[in-house]
Order: sequence, then C-alpha cells, then structure tokens
Amino acid sequence: MKRIYNFSAGPAIMPVPVLEQLSRDVLEINGSGMSILEVSHRGKDYDAIHHEAMANLLQTLDLSPDEYSVVFSTGGASLQFAMLAMNFLSVGQTADYVDTGEWSSKAIKEAKRCGNVHVVASSAETQYDRIPKGLTFSAPGTARYAHITTNNTIEGTQFHSLPDANGAPLTADMSSDIFAMNHDFSKFDLLYAGTQKNAGPAGVTMVVARKSFLETANKNLSPMLSYLVQAEKESLYNTPPVFAIHALNLVLKHIQAEGGVAEMEKRNREKAGLIYSALDAHPELYRPTVAENGDRSLMNITFRLTTEDLEAEFLKEAKTREMDGLKGHRNVGGVRASIYNAFPREGCVALADFLADFARRKG
Ligand SMILES: *Cc1c(COP(=O)(O)O)cnc(C)c1O
Repeated sequence: MKRIYNFSAGPAIMPVPVLEQLSRDVLEINGSGMSILEVSHRGKDYDAIHHEAMANLLQTLDLSPDEYSVVFSTGGASLQFAMLAMNFLSVGQTADYVDTGEWSSKAIKEAKRCGNVHVVASSAETQYDRIPKGLTFSAPGTARYAHITTNNTIEGTQFHSLPDANGAPLTADMSSDIFAMNHDFSKFDLLYAGTQKNAGPAGVTMVVARKSFLETANKNLSPMLSYLVQAEKESLYNTPPVFAIHALNLVLKHIQAEGGVAEMEKRNREKAGLIYSALDAHPELYRPTVAENGDRSLMNITFRLTTEDLEAEFLKEAKTREMDGLKGHRNVGGVRASIYNAFPREGCVALADFLADFARRKG
C-alpha cells in the first residue's frame, strides 16, 4: 500500500490501523457472515457498535453520560447551524455569536432565521486573520446561548482557550479540531462536529449536549430536526449512517489507545511547530495569513507566497514530493496544510524540509 502525505482539509487523512480494520469489516463484521455495510441498524452487531460509539465519544471528552447526551445526526455541521437555532432560539430571543470566519458567518445566517443574533465580535474586516479579543457577550441572563467556532478551517485560526460567555450556555462548532486540543469540555452545553476532518470518513455529525440544556429545547419540531426526539430515540429514529459511526468508534478507540486528547494536543503542538518554524525562518518568501501567533491553528496552517506564480510552482513541486491537498480554500487562495491527528509527524518534517529547500532556491 502506498501512502502519500495527504494535507487535505476534509475529508481527510485517517489512522492506518483504523483503515485496516475497516477494510476487514467491509468484508465481514464480528464473524457474522455479513459486511458492516450489510448489517441491520437494529441488529445486535450494529447495536453494540452504536452504543459503544456514544460511550466512547463521551469518555474521550471526559464527560459523564449522566450529564450529557449524544446525538448522531447527518447533514454535516451545515445542518447543525440551522438545528441549533431551531431548537434553542425563537422570535424575540437573542443568541450571541462570535464571527471568526466563513463557517461562523454561515452559522449566524441560519440563526437569524429564528431570532436575534448579537455578533459579539467579528474579524471579518481583517479577512478573519485573528480571533477577536475582549469579547463582550450579552449581559448575564439575556442570551439564549453563545456560539463559537473553535477552529477556523479555512482561515487557519483557533481558540486556544475558551471564552467566558457571561453565563450563557456555550455552544461550539468543533468540526475541525474536536479531539485535537484538550479543553474542559464540561464548559460546553452543546458542541457539534462533522466526522470527516478529525474523526473518520464523511457521513455522521456528532452532537454532544448537556441534558439540562436539551430539556429547554423547542418541543414543536419535526422529529428529524428535534434534538430531544433524536436523543430520546438514541439516534435510531431512522436509519443512522452505520458505516460512518462504526468508523468513528474505531477512531475513538484509537485515540484512547494512543493516550487520549491530551496526548493528541501534545503531538499536534509539536507537529504544527515544525511547519510554523520553517515558515517563520523565511519571511522573505512566506507570509503566514494569521496576524497573531497565539491564534494560529494547530490543524490548518495557512500561508501565502510572495506571488501567485510562486504559489502555483510550490503546489506543483509539492505533488512531485508526494504531498497533496495543499491548495488553499477556493475563497482565500494561497496554501493550506491541514495536519489533523492522523497526519504523521514525518509528513510535517517533509513539508518543513521542502519549505526550507524551496526558500533557498526562490527566496
Ligand atoms: C468543514 C466544516 C464545516 C462544514 O461541514 P459540512 O459537514 O460540510 O457541513 C463547518 N464548520 C467547520 C468549522 C468546518 O471545518
């Protein structure tokens, strides 16, 4: 099997042992004589996987199943932008949103369909090159909830600590850094993340919510859009994405076996440091797009070269070195190296070496 260095932002690289297990399970799961792709979502083989995945998700985040519920949804984080607001925000109420990038601005758009949005702060005017500081959330007791995007996949910024939302329930889109940075996850009342960046293939969206917060959700929604119904039915109201949940469960077990989220963060800091150091060593050629070092993402490293021609040349040469997926998001251009948990340290060393070598020749 040949493996290139896959810097894709998502769907993205997965741990090899998980891929190997999945390939076996595609042929036969648990000696059942059936593929994981063929088993009933109400049969015993899948039922065990389903509940194990929920338990492992909470365990990985160090959250208690007495306090938190898991919902497996589909429709990506993009549907969660709408579902969060439909479940918790209604006309006359206000939710606080921090606008840190393209994904947060999409979340804001959806919330505005349901109620008032107070944009606590925005870095839109500086092309989302930073996490805004000195956030002024609504006065205590006035916001229905507060929302942040912990990692801005497109712009390359990340919250390195969680804000205090003045007592409002804190919610977050963690699609691109769940399991990558350790937090006190009990600070969240609800968090959600698609699996396709740091937790498996595309197909399922994890929603983790505090039970006491869920109880305050809108009770008059279509069952498929209701967190309460989905939680009560343990995400088996309809057919769940069986394969994606199985893959997520394997990724969760892999993370735990490797030392958990704290160990992931430690490795991620070292890996990202290798690449940022190589960029910072050659300011004559490379322009990291994030204004403040303390906001730099450990997951998505974004930078420009001095000219677009050099960027094209850089990307082309990278491919000859078995590095792919480095092209920046179509809306921002430049270069983006996504180095999720499963991305190997050797790949970061290889990119750092290439950055130095390219600068020696072109800088
Ligand atoms: C990828 C991404 C999304 C969109 O996810 P979909 O699964 O395509 O809906 C939303 N938010 C963030 C932070 C992302 O990285």
